[in-house]
Amino acid sequence: MIRKFIRRVFNKKSPTGGKPRIFPLMKHGITADHLSPCALKTARTLQQAGFKAFVVGGAVRDLLLGREPKDFDVATDAEPDEVRDLFRRSRIIGRRFRIVHVMCGAETIEVSTFRTVAVASNNEHEDRQTDQESGRILRDNVFGSQEEDSMRRDFTVNALYYDPVSQEIWDYHNGVADLKAGVLRIIGDPAQRYREDPVRMLRAVRFAAKLGLKLDPAAIKPIRELAELLEDVPAARLFDEMLKLLFSGHAVQSVLLLRKKGLHHGLLPMLDVILEQPMGERFVMLALAKTDQRIVQGKPVSPAFLFAALLWHEVLAAWQQCQADGERPIPALHLAMDLVLTAQSEKLAIPHRYDAVMKEIWTMQPRFLQRAGQRPFRLLEHPRFRAAYDFLVMRCESGEVDAEVGRWWEDFQNAGDEERGRMLIKDEGAPKKRRRRKPKAARPAGEDQPVATD
Ligand code: ATP
Ligand code: MG
Repeated sequence: MIRKFIRRVFNKKSPTGGKPRIFPLMKHGITADHLSPCALKTARTLQQAGFKAFVVGGAVRDLLLGREPKDFDVATDAEPDEVRDLFRRSRIIGRRFRIVHVMCGAETIEVSTFRTVAVASNNEHEDRQTDQESGRILRDNVFGSQEEDSMRRDFTVNALYYDPVSQEIWDYHNGVADLKAGVLRIIGDPAQRYREDPVRMLRAVRFAAKLGLKLDPAAIKPIRELAELLEDVPAARLFDEMLKLLFSGHAVQSVLLLRKKGLHHGLLPMLDVILEQPMGERFVMLALAKTDQRIVQGKPVSPAFLFAALLWHEVLAAWQQCQADGERPIPALHLAMDLVLTAQSEKLAIPHRYDAVMKEIWTMQPRFLQRAGQRPFRLLEHPRFRAAYDFLVMRCESGEVDAEVGRWWEDFQNAGDEERGRMLIKDEGAPKKRRRRKPKAARPAGEDQPVATD
């Protein structure tokens, strides 16, 4: 039955009639020294042993676009054991879906054997067995020809093979032409390919935004109807893909593209949250823009910080609700955070390992409004101060918090001790006190704030 299914899917020939279009060096200009030494060595060694070996996928695409590839994958007709025997520092990973990691220095090259049947290579190391009804993949660990290998890939521009010895590009799906024309096109029937692996819908949007390509209209059309299939994708894989989208350096573009195509609804629960909250939209877009900026500048980014931003307005709304229900401010905030995190861990698959940092960033926010006594000094010493302060700055920029507060904290950080003492602001954010006829002796300055979190 499996064989029948495989045949059903793959008895079609590639558009080039089974033979690749071969582009010599003079047509594309990518010399072998564009590859990392490890990729080059891996492909050469395989070829010297009589196997085929090509650099494939994102790296070839990125080189053609004049970008620096993130990493290099090699595809070969050698089977995993044969690959491993050729490289001293190598190991086979995955049980059923076996690929080989070849290591040189700090670099690792992923070597996969040509395979047939579409696969979801983000999770290549996992077993994948799904039912035939839904059109999903049954098996993805069957070795095949190079042409079959090209047909299991997702987009034409991701199915280009570069031979570093002959310096040729082999193209079975007119990927070079699509790249030139600026089109992101799915290999095969888009609806069928999305059914096989719904994550491809997200990949489509991410690559279009990241590479500045126009998504082929035929690839857009089925998404609205099939977006719900993403619900069945294992949470961890969805989370990985979402992370790739948010940290692609083009998160703003990706999200705008989703919205423009009307695809955000239901495509990814996280994006639903992002785009369905008008109040928080500015804040969220700002957070995404800052993330993009940091990535472009090569600065580190923290997923917890971004998730804290994405969920902040949910927390705010829940916080208000809890207070309206009679809870005092700080217990209300803790309740709100727990409510939002519980709801989101089901829907959004944000791993709990980020909870603690997100909560810290959130609980520090009200403390920025306490600018009397020892409190600002204590806040400044908090190990998470920098992140919480950056978060505050975004709240100011989005108009949620008075810009003066952000400026004050900037000055306060830069000021000397004496200056800091002068800067303190008494009674800020104090609750409306019940009038007492005979007030008791005043408490020390700064100790009468309502929001006590430390
Ligand atoms: P990036 O620059 O984001 O890493 P990439 O194209 O290298 O882009 P990967 O996720 O690293 O993307 O996958 C490597 C290659 O494996 C892809 O270029 C594509 O050919 C194939 N591939 C990955 N995921 C899928 C999928 N879900 N369905 C089909 N082919 C896939
Ligand atoms: Mg890659």
